[in-house]
Amino acid sequence: MKLIVDSAQRYAKMRAHTATHLLHAALGKIFPTTKQAGSLVDSDLLRFDFYADRLLNEQELAQLERVINQMIYYACEVSTLELSLEEAQKLGAKMFFEEKYGDIVRVVQVKNIHIDEVAPEVQAYFDGYGAMLSQELCGGTHVANTKDIGAFSIVSQEAVASGIKRLTALTGPRVLEKLEKQTSMLGDLVNILEVKSFAQLSEKAQKLTKTLEECQSQLQTMESKVIKAELLSGDKKSDQYFEIILKVASDLNFKTVGAEAKSLFLGKSVLLYNDLGNFIILGKAGVSAKQLAQQVALKGGGNDVQIQGRDENVLKLYN
Ligand SMILES: [Zn+2]
Repeated sequence: MKLIVDSAQRYAKMRAHTATHLLHAALGKIFPTTKQAGSLVDSDLLRFDFYADRLLNEQELAQLERVINQMIYYACEVSTLELSLEEAQKLGAKMFFEEKYGDIVRVVQVKNIHIDEVAPEVQAYFDGYGAMLSQELCGGTHVANTKDIGAFSIVSQEAVASGIKRLTALTGPRVLEKLEKQTSMLGDLVNILEVKSFAQLSEKAQKLTKTLEECQSQLQTMESKVIKAELLSGDKKSDQYFEIILKVASDLNFKTVGAEAKSLFLGKSVLLYNDLGNFIILGKAGVSAKQLAQQVALKGGGNDVQIQGRDENVLKLYN
């Protein structure tokens, strides 16, 4: 039993490893001078770090996935060669110059043996590759044919260090698991948004967003009206510091209260407060809001035009 599990795991790692070579080759078409900065191969999971000064955009990510899945679908042959280091260099095999190699090295090649049979629209995916899709110095174990990888799907992209980006991807059955999860999530959304099919989801989401924006804008307009009415008709007092002292309902948006008061009571010294102890002081020509706040000993922040804050002393002073 253990042997079966081990061999299944080994195979899952081989799928991820061969896919790593395909990814390395395909990335080279987007970043011609990129190099591998690190790599992790697990069961149907791979992580590939590479040198690049920017992240890939959505289009490039989709293109990477497409070309690698085409390489898988078109059953390309994976073979190994034992060569002298010099011969491998002549072939142009990818290698790490920092690493010490022996006299004889192992080169893993991925060849598109169907290059002449593939339809022109598919050939476009392989444009610039030729029959040799990838060749890399490598001592690891690989699947014999890219079709054994099954499928390839990128799950994330991130910046891991200065100039180094990381792609994480799945192969084989884990791609199907990801698809199943996503399909189930879309199914939940179909129920929540009350539509009949996946195809209607984005249209419904757009409609809802638009409705929400309209509601928010209507709400703001109504809120402004209510606040204006309250500011105009509210029971105002005054004292030696403020020409207008007004207590407003505590469920009104206090920020909007301040904005409306500024234009309604322009040129007057004003104190607005609510039952929660929130206050706004508006200064006027000759007496800044800061001075007024100091005079009545209320603590808040702001500038010469407006000081706002929360200080329960305002209730002791004016309630
Ligand atoms: Zn390798």
